[in-house]
Amino acid sequence: MPNVPFPRDFYKKPRCVSFPSAPSDRAAKYYNTTSWQKTRRAVAQEHPLCELSLLQNRVANADELHHLIKFNEQPNEEMRLRLLLDPDNIIALSQEKHLNIHYRRHLLTEDEVNLLNERKQKVYAKYVAEGCPIVWTEDANT
Ligand SMILES: [Zn+2]
Repeated sequence: MPNVPFPRDFYKKPRCVSFPSAPSDRAAKYYNTTSWQKTRRAVAQEHPLCELSLLQNRVANADELHHLIKFNEQPNEEMRLRLLLDPDNIIALSQEKHLNIHYRRHLLTEDEVNLLNERKQKVYAKYVAEGCPIVWTEDANT
């Protein structure tokens, strides 16, 4: 894997205390598409269990999908769609773990932080290798 710049402590940064908000209008538009519904079903079928819980040998249903790199912050539509629909950019999670990522990062274990960082770095490196650098912002990209 090429050595690419990546904020290693990304998932250790404290969260803002704000409440979960509904997906922005901009994101909601994408979640209503047939292509997202298809991807969602395929990933959910392949990963019926929470991928972070499995790290601790715990079995929990995957209730939700999380995009490792936020698609709706990408500068153009092509990259937004690619990151939305790329299974490599999606992790299946229990609601509890998903909330930990977005709002209670201090509850993530070191193993979980490492897994998330590895997965995210893999996605990032893939796009950089294709000459399509992707955008993230540390605070909002959860
Ligand atoms: Zn999420």
